[in-house]
Amino acid sequence: MTEGKQYEAVIGLEVHAQLATKSKLFCSDATNFGAAPNTQISPITMGHPGSLPKTNKKAVEFAIKMGLACNSTIVKENYFARKNYFYPDLPKGYQISQHTTPICAGGNIQIKVGDQKRYVQLNRIHLEEDAGKSIHDIDPTHTLIDLNRAGTPLIEIVTEPDIFSAEEAFAYVTEIRKLVQWLGICDGNMEEGSLRCDANVSVRLKGEKKLGTRVEVKNLNSIRNVKKSIEYEIARMIEVLESGGTITQQTRSFDASNDTTFPLRDKEEANDYRYFPDPDLAPFVLSDTYINEIKLGLPILPDALEEKLMTQYQLSRYDATQICESLNTVQYFEATAKHTSNYKSVANWMLGPIKSYLNEVGLDYSNLGLQPNILADLIRIIDAGQFNFSVGASKILPQIADGKKTDILAVATELNLLQVNDADTLEKWVDAAIASMPDKVIEYQKGKKGLIGLFIGAVKKISQGQADPNKASELLIQKLNK
Ligand code: ADP
Ligand code: MG
Repeated sequence: MTEGKQYEAVIGLEVHAQLATKSKLFCSDATNFGAAPNTQISPITMGHPGSLPKTNKKAVEFAIKMGLACNSTIVKENYFARKNYFYPDLPKGYQISQHTTPICAGGNIQIKVGDQKRYVQLNRIHLEEDAGKSIHDIDPTHTLIDLNRAGTPLIEIVTEPDIFSAEEAFAYVTEIRKLVQWLGICDGNMEEGSLRCDANVSVRLKGEKKLGTRVEVKNLNSIRNVKKSIEYEIARMIEVLESGGTITQQTRSFDASNDTTFPLRDKEEANDYRYFPDPDLAPFVLSDTYINEIKLGLPILPDALEEKLMTQYQLSRYDATQICESLNTVQYFEATAKHTSNYKSVANWMLGPIKSYLNEVGLDYSNLGLQPNILADLIRIIDAGQFNFSVGASKILPQIADGKKTDILAVATELNLLQVNDADTLEKWVDAAIASMPDKVIEYQKGKKGLIGLFIGAVKKISQGQADPNKASELLIQKLNK
């Protein structure tokens, strides 16, 4: 984009994360995804007159966990507010949310783009209930309503306008997804809508302090779509400005079939939701003791763990970052490190061949069949020279990855993959190789040392790949130099 020099994009993201509680935010209805429509609803979810909501303590705890992990200030005096608007999937006519007292204020989330790290400032994290779902694509003439989702607890994580490119937005949502999964407060499943993102995008001339007019792209359901929609919006807005037009404040939607966005509605400066404290829910106060208890129960966070992996296991920054991709991965690494001290090799296996295998079969480290102690065996056998890494990766791993076979030496014997490093046998093969090429021996001895490869090749062939290549070449050199 040639105009990139003149314009700067400014982005603020609102991420909704469904909290992984068993029941809803204000009643005991289940929150399972994919249940038959309208089977997880009660008078409270439906907003029937006289029904009384009651706050789910677990949801409050999860929201505080996220806030603590993001260095937010936990707001102690909280109340829920009614955000009034009409929508077919909002049976009560209002959504219970937080208004002036988001449970977490401020904070930040570290993102990495390339090898640059930077903190994105948060505005707030607040608790609210989800709405139901309007389904437009089942009946040709009617919109159907499924209220199962209504009342599911959400946290909404809102940034300051502090993101400046589609890549940064991509990194930010990636980081949020990792963090909520790490904390165990949300499954992070974007296809099922457990994590959804609205992107607010504006552009302004470089150096300009005032924010440009924004558009809000609603309900992005993959990290890729967050990036694509922002890329599209930035280009579109610059084009409008370049051709002398002005940006209209709009709510837009993303069309994943061609990576464009289209307008849903023009947005007034501020919607009037007539917020007021929900009279059915008592304000709640969080004590320092309670907040501290939650703090003590937090798992070690990815950044701190990365440092630990580097000092305790001497991993490179790169390996440590990759291993910290998810809690499952770290747990598997640490479990394996209990059985071997070749930590570098554990990382190589986990980030190389095993990761490819997991991608292929659609599993992750939490459900990998290959057990940590067996991976450690594999590493030990390779270190002892019984076969090499590439044989291990291409021939042995596929046999043991599902965890059914655990005796690696038996597998290697069966496939005839064990290297022979017994001195007598090796000598026999080496002698045979030398005897097969008398003229090459003379050339070698005259100084054509490069021919060693040819002899090694001959040993390989004669031994049908079973000769330990390091030992064999040592022996070859010894004999040829005599
Ligand atoms: P609303 O509730 O109407 O969506 P908010 O003021 O809560 O509006 O802002 C929502 C998000 O939009 C925040 O992440 C904020 O940083 C971002 N934002 C606000 N103005 C702009 C702008 N001009 N350009 C980019 N992002 C913006
Ligand atoms: Mg918004």
